[in-house]
Amino acid sequence: MPFIDTHCHLDAPNYADLAAVCRQSEQAGVTVTVAAGAGLDSNQRILGLQQQQPAHVWAALGLHPERPEASWDEVEAVLAQLRSHRGRVVALGEVGLPHYALLDGSMTAEQARRHEALLHALVKGAVALSLPVVLHAPHAAADKALAIARRYEPSGVVFHWHKGSPETTAAICEAGYFVSVTPEVCYRERDRELVRATPLRNLLLESDGPWPYGGEFAGQSTTPAVVARLAVEVARLKGVSLEEVRELTWENAQRLFGCGGSGSDPVAGRIGAG
Ligand SMILES: [Zn+2]
Repeated sequence: MPFIDTHCHLDAPNYADLAAVCRQSEQAGVTVTVAAGAGLDSNQRILGLQQQQPAHVWAALGLHPERPEASWDEVEAVLAQLRSHRGRVVALGEVGLPHYALLDGSMTAEQARRHEALLHALVKGAVALSLPVVLHAPHAAADKALAIARRYEPSGVVFHWHKGSPETTAAICEAGYFVSVTPEVCYRERDRELVRATPLRNLLLESDGPWPYGGEFAGQSTTPAVVARLAVEVARLKGVSLEEVRELTWENAQRLFGCGGSGSDPVAGRIGAG
């Protein structure tokens, strides 16, 4: 059973040598990486990466919610991209609600309200295409995003980079959705507590590369390989074997992205399933 990095911005310049990144990750045991799209151009790049490394790269196409300039035209265009490439795509993502852009003042309250309206349309679009949704909704944004997910009930939902309250985390898990944690689990008590509180059947692991981490990762560039180290820490926190973490997080990812039983090739699995 391999490890899967369920969220990485593989189209970032840091990963210019994709073959080398995949090789290095596979040497660490991470054989699949879900590449998250941030907008039209990013999505296009990710489709190209999926074509280059179809066994390693699972493509998700999205519209990043921390970008103030996102528009209705862009939503339409992203949904059109998803429709055209449906057979090669495993999720809508990342999409969601802003948090950091509001905190640092780079987004107005009005732009944030527009993002909320855009998210309704995007999630509806995912439902029409039977695609799961990768959500970015940190801290207080998680409650609102959960309400939107519950309203449209996509086939699956993961709260990536999850930082919600224990109550929100419990509600996410009760709804049958997933929470995805980052290498911060290795050095931040808040994130360690989140892992303790989340049932393993609701947990996924991500690098969110190229985001740089602190603690033991300070000064290192982030690649999907870090998920193998993250899994060791999750096993320790949950008091289970590394094997169990590997197995359950793999099964969770298969359940979420709808590629159960298809090995590491979601597209072949879909074709096989008709
Ligand atoms: Zn991201």
